[in-house]
Amino acid sequence: MNLSLFRKLVLFITMLVSCHVNALDTVNLDLRWDHQFQFAGYYAALEKGYYQDEGIKVNLRAGSANKNNIDEVISGRADFSVSNSELILARLQGKPVVALSALFQYSPEILLSLKSSAINSPSDLKNKIIATNSGQLEPHLLTMLEMQGGALGKSLSVIKKSDFELDSLITRKVDVITSYLTNQPYTLNKMGIDYKVMDPQVYGINFYSDFLFTSEQFISKNYRLVKRFKRASLRGWEYALANPDEIITVILAKYPTSKSAAALRYEAQMMVALMRNDLVELGHINPARINAMAESTIKFSEQSYDLTTMDGFLTSTEDKNIQQFQWRLRFLLLFFIIAACIIGLYFRLHKKLRHEIKEHQLLTRQLKAAVNTDPLSGIYNRRKFAKCYKHETERSLRYGGKFSIVMIDIDTFKQTNDTYGHEFGDEVIKKVAGILADGVRDIDTCARYGGEEFILLLPNTDEYASGILAERLRKKIEQCLFIAPNNDTVTITCSFGVAQFQGNLDPTSRFVTQSSQHEGTIACADKALYFAKKNSRNRVCYWTEIAEAVDKIA
Ligand code: GH3
Ligand code: MG
Ligand code: MG
Repeated sequence: MNLSLFRKLVLFITMLVSCHVNALDTVNLDLRWDHQFQFAGYYAALEKGYYQDEGIKVNLRAGSANKNNIDEVISGRADFSVSNSELILARLQGKPVVALSALFQYSPEILLSLKSSAINSPSDLKNKIIATNSGQLEPHLLTMLEMQGGALGKSLSVIKKSDFELDSLITRKVDVITSYLTNQPYTLNKMGIDYKVMDPQVYGINFYSDFLFTSEQFISKNYRLVKRFKRASLRGWEYALANPDEIITVILAKYPTSKSAAALRYEAQMMVALMRNDLVELGHINPARINAMAESTIKFSEQSYDLTTMDGFLTSTEDKNIQQFQWRLRFLLLFFIIAACIIGLYFRLHKKLRHEIKEHQLLTRQLKAAVNTDPLSGIYNRRKFAKCYKHETERSLRYGGKFSIVMIDIDTFKQTNDTYGHEFGDEVIKKVAGILADGVRDIDTCARYGGEEFILLLPNTDEYASGILAERLRKKIEQCLFIAPNNDTVTITCSFGVAQFQGNLDPTSRFVTQSSQHEGTIACADKALYFAKKNSRNRVCYWTEIAEAVDKIA
């Protein structure tokens, strides 16, 4: 690859990566009113770079009377905003707003009257005209009136006058106005007009104000961003309360405001008593107080609301993290349970399969054995013998070897059966088979050839040696005593016929020897057995002995 092209590619990738690393999340923060110290924490967070530290770019927008900042957040046009107790009403009305922090532990909104008026307490408000910004009294003011036996319902005349207008109070067009403890008293002080304040805080009413809030949809998609934004904002508030003069200078320099430096200072001073960060952690929200606020809101509302709609109003970013952790834990647990089940199932199946394989192998072995074994005597059957015989004949033919066949038949067995019964006959067959099988070598084959006939295949053994073995077996059987069912002591004898096979390595004479054809060896042994039977039984006869006589007969 061309070097300059390579460099361009590296530069391009570096730019892409750095763009990604430096990319800030941009959010819109709508304030509630014009710029003033009421929002000092947000200016401080911007000015000191706390938002930037959290990777957030904040568009700060001043509020106005025409803009409903709750609807702005619900619609997504703003991501965060600041609101007072109307946020609770909005939540009760089903708007999915979520409070993150409450900056004011007490509401700054109070009732203000002229000192010269006869109004000294909430109980003096009957049939008096109260001017408010919204045309309605907020729940915390209504709570104060109710608690202090003040005018409520029809005896209360509330009118709408925009922007906390002082003129109508000074000119006595109205008796009382709603006011911010942080603002209008300063103006009256400056004008030299004495006034009286009815402050719910004095009566122990502690409604939060200046909630920093967002929407459920925003928090569900951006809970980490919300957490970072809240952290940076509270950091800004810490700084602003510790350094009010510096932030006032920032407000005057950068944010259009109608307030003077002195007015802002007054506001900052008054806010300290409302925020009480000396007592309470900045932004802290007590759920019980939210509940009390919601109950008051419902109580003074003309419509009925369900308190359960407040569930989720305080879902904090911490809760989200815990919830997510819990969900992960549940998934992990589920995963392990499923994995354990699969592993358990696998091992069970594996065990079952192994057991079945073992059973199958045993059955196969038993079947194989059954195919080759005589069921009565337990020795090889004729089928197995035929295989061994064929194998041995082929081996002897190829290598010029020899083997002998011995045929055995129980003498006068029909008579034994007839005299002592068939079952006794079976016992005799088993015993004779056992004597024969035990009396031969491991390399020999002993099989049941027919009813009361047995056959031996003795590899590498000539007729002479086979005769010695046959004689030994004959004697053993003869000496064996059987107890018949009638307690008779019975002896059994057998007749033996022996013949030898001799393979010859010379191909021309390979089949010349006597009994050279393997079928013939058995026949020769059978003929020798026949001779033994003819000659008084219980004896061993050899094919070589009788061959001549047989030839003569033939
Ligand atoms: P020989 O000395 O000439 O061999 O006389 P034998 O009686 O033994 O010969 P035969 O062929 O006349 O009779 C064989 C008898 O063996 C007939 C049959 O009932 C009996 N036999 C064959 N197989 C069995 C068996 O499995 N159990 C019993 N109990 N008897 C059997
Ligand atoms: Mg027989
Ligand atoms: Mg017999």
